[in-house]
Amino acid sequence: MQKRTVAFSRNCSNVFFHLLTACNLACRHCYINVAQHGENTLDIDTIRRWLDIFAARAPSANLILLGGEPTLHPELADVIRYAGKRAFGSVTVDTNGFLFHDILERVDPGEIDFFSFSLDGATPATNDAIRGRGTYERCIAGMRRAAAKGFATSLIYTVSRLNLHELESMAALVKDLGITRFFIQVIGLRGASAEDARARQLQLSRREWLDTVPAAAARIAAQGVIVTYPKVFLTAGELFECAGRVADNYFVFPNGRVYRCPLCEDYPLNALAIENNRLVEMPPINESHLFALDIPEGCVINRLVQPQNLAYDAAGVPDYRIACCMLKEEIFVRQ
Ligand code: SF4
Ligand code: SF4
Repeated sequence: MQKRTVAFSRNCSNVFFHLLTACNLACRHCYINVAQHGENTLDIDTIRRWLDIFAARAPSANLILLGGEPTLHPELADVIRYAGKRAFGSVTVDTNGFLFHDILERVDPGEIDFFSFSLDGATPATNDAIRGRGTYERCIAGMRRAAAKGFATSLIYTVSRLNLHELESMAALVKDLGITRFFIQVIGLRGASAEDARARQLQLSRREWLDTVPAAAARIAAQGVIVTYPKVFLTAGELFECAGRVADNYFVFPNGRVYRCPLCEDYPLNALAIENNRLVEMPPINESHLFALDIPEGCVINRLVQPQNLAYDAAGVPDYRIACCMLKEEIFVRQ
């Protein structure tokens, strides 16, 4: 088993492009915030212009097309094809598995690197309690159809206290589904679901995370799948770095806001915006001014928006630091 921490660097840019905020589902942990990012669906001409901006600014960036549900966009196939002709290193579509507009019939496996499916439980009971009735079957069916057609597929599992108990059981499922990558995400306290998630304390404690997630990730990786999960908690002596300072990530929303840090998305703190099809810097104060603050707790935005995952000793010294949410561990079996 090989394990490595995936550092972020200038050499690896990611463009997370939300084409729309609409979705057919209403997942309990949905991070979409219509009040901040609007309800519009970008038209194909605008999407092309915005893709041109990022292809020029961050050549070889990994492009992740998102929503809402991106397959609700009637011209997603054209978007994928256009992106494929630009200087992106890879093109991924994150989907809830409903695969609208016959998307699997309208693109070829050679035109897209991954369809990434969101599933939040190893059983319908657990997944559907989070994502809605019938979503387990639809997502599994979508994954199977995509794999049968030759598309590379991956799976995203957003771990919380609602489904931690089934993370390990995903090991049995992944092999059967033919996926090659498995991403574990932390439930965010963002968007319309944030209040409920905060009130119900759905985020894992440090102890729960450390006792469960790395071991479950190893079991899933043992099936021959590359597993990626966020570092979350730094141990003493580990380097803290803020991706907003040292990396090159863009979180793009259909109202033109462009963030450098996903934890800032509930606030008008975006460092950049697209105005008249040009990427412009926002005036102070924005997220980039916060990235510059050094605090003993590590991530400054975490300290502001989800401080309940911190702990202090009697003298007020943090027991540990929170890593950048973009810092990942990757685990796989050496072939
Ligand atoms: S989490 Fe994704 S699939 Fe679920 S409601 Fe939100 S946008 Fe839709
Ligand atoms: S999560 Fe924290 S450390 Fe990472 S980019 Fe945002 S502010 Fe910086």
